[in-house]
Amino acid sequence: MDQQQKPDFDVISVGAGFAGLALIHHLREAGLSIRVFDRASDIGGTWTWNRYPGAMTDSESYYYCLMFSKELLQEWSWTQRYPDWKETLAYMHFVADRCDMWPHIQLNTEIVAADYQKEKANWKVTTAGGESFTCKYFISSMGMISHPVIPDIKGKDSFKGPIFHSARWPEDLDYKGKRVGIIGAGATTVQLVPAIAADAAEVTVFHRTPNYILPAMQKPMTPEWEKEIKDNYDEIVAMCRNHGFGMAFGTANGRMAMETSAEERERIFEENWTGSFRWVFETFDDLLGSPEANRWASEFIIRKMRERINEPEIADILVPKADDYPLFAKRPPLDHDYLEAFNRDNVHVVDIKIREPLAEITETGIRTTKDHYEFDIIVLATGFQAYTGALEAFPIRGESGISLKEKWKDESQSIMGVCIADYPNLFTITGPQAPFANLPTSIGQNAVWIANCIKKMETEGYDVFKPRKEAEEQWSATVADIHVQTLMNSGDEVNSWMMGANLGDKKPRVLIYFGGANNYYDALDQSAEQGYPELEFEKLSAPNLDSGIAENNAKPHI
Ligand code: NAP
Repeated sequence: MDQQQKPDFDVISVGAGFAGLALIHHLREAGLSIRVFDRASDIGGTWTWNRYPGAMTDSESYYYCLMFSKELLQEWSWTQRYPDWKETLAYMHFVADRCDMWPHIQLNTEIVAADYQKEKANWKVTTAGGESFTCKYFISSMGMISHPVIPDIKGKDSFKGPIFHSARWPEDLDYKGKRVGIIGAGATTVQLVPAIAADAAEVTVFHRTPNYILPAMQKPMTPEWEKEIKDNYDEIVAMCRNHGFGMAFGTANGRMAMETSAEERERIFEENWTGSFRWVFETFDDLLGSPEANRWASEFIIRKMRERINEPEIADILVPKADDYPLFAKRPPLDHDYLEAFNRDNVHVVDIKIREPLAEITETGIRTTKDHYEFDIIVLATGFQAYTGALEAFPIRGESGISLKEKWKDESQSIMGVCIADYPNLFTITGPQAPFANLPTSIGQNAVWIANCIKKMETEGYDVFKPRKEAEEQWSATVADIHVQTLMNSGDEVNSWMMGANLGDKKPRVLIYFGGANNYYDALDQSAEQGYPELEFEKLSAPNLDSGIAENNAKPHI
């Protein structure tokens, strides 16, 4: 190893969303220097990119937030059950201001390469502007669902009006009185359509696979509700930590649909139909485990969906059949009057799955095999390359010089979604094979695990950690074993992003640990308690005398 020079930063991270902010808090507390880069002009991650009308969280506000500070939880007031992107962004600014995080954040800076330099035991990170910075630890905080998928539709570039991915909504777009065509009908479209329906002249959705749609049932935050939340935040934080999807939901206390009479089941389904995903978790404990119970839940949702749509032919396109696929094989969207929007005269749906497949985009609109539809604006609400997209978007090259994109050609393996074999001193927040859960909960758990691992490295004088290949194989085998036992296993048949099955050029793969986020958090805790057995720690011949903790004074913060 070369005589070690102090790297520019102890830690460089990419992505100034929830994960970037959590890292700044935990790593600064550990006395490390950190710089978070983001190519956006603002912090916020998902909530700075997804500015389409109607964009809002599907988790309820009071637990879709960073939980590292009791003071912050008390100080911030949410205005409604589900905050829209503006409110979430305002909250993130509040956190960054209140915790004096801005000095650690560099916006408008795209990272185009990250290379592990074996001889120096550090990472070299290169920006689009040609600058490079070094760091001992490189951490991805780029988000799990952040890399848009733009479909290769014939004629896409010929359209004369604005055409863009939903996650790149132009700030100054005026859609009032315009004809808007939307390709795709996932969670994004479900939020977008009702938000623009009243002002646009016409809204037409080009629809493939129907979704099980649950109602959000938005409501304002009242002073009484806020008080109840703030009086019980310790319990809410613990609920998130102990829930299978990181949500502050109650449980069904072992109640099984399979052991409940049809009449009683119906009563419980109906009584709990109060909005949010909590319906799935607070009614019965076997809805995601038993095919029969899952089917009853699916049939209930189907009935509820059809009741809200006036025209049976439209309902036939929008509503799944129980035989199509199990509830949760695709991520169900929450809606705010999406289905009712199709009762308006100016909102239409075109079935491009069966009746009239998409043929091409033209200069003036969209042509199917049966018709041509004229538009002023086309929105590609076609989803994301989840888990791996951002990590493959620029070369991140490890010890053997292979990029993550090359490594993950056939399978996207990791150790608990936080470390990757052959990539020393690299961490990923909610990388592949982490659970799919309320993201701030998982981000918080990952950030603590990472911060504690770095503290061990620094206090014990290590230069490098190398994620063990055996640990990666073991975690991947566990994730795959669990996956085949779940009903989500059929996600590849319905193009679910949860298996990367929405990417034409990639083989579907097991991207998610479905063993329960709570069990995953237990696994992280156990790993930390046991001294990170998944990693091999090394001291190199010329020790890194400039380790961060010894030299950096933590700034005052919460
Ligand atoms: P998505 O759920 O993956 O939906 C993409 C849609 O585009 C699907 O209807 C898909 O049809 C269609 N599509 C893709 N390629 C196509 C093509 N070539 N031709 C025609 N149709 C095509 O994407 P999303 O709606 O952006 O949501 C993705 C995830 O982001 C969500 O599941 C959620 O986790 C997250 N999200 C969260 C929120 C929130 O929490 N508030 C809001 C929005 C998104 P097929 O289904 O047939 O493939």
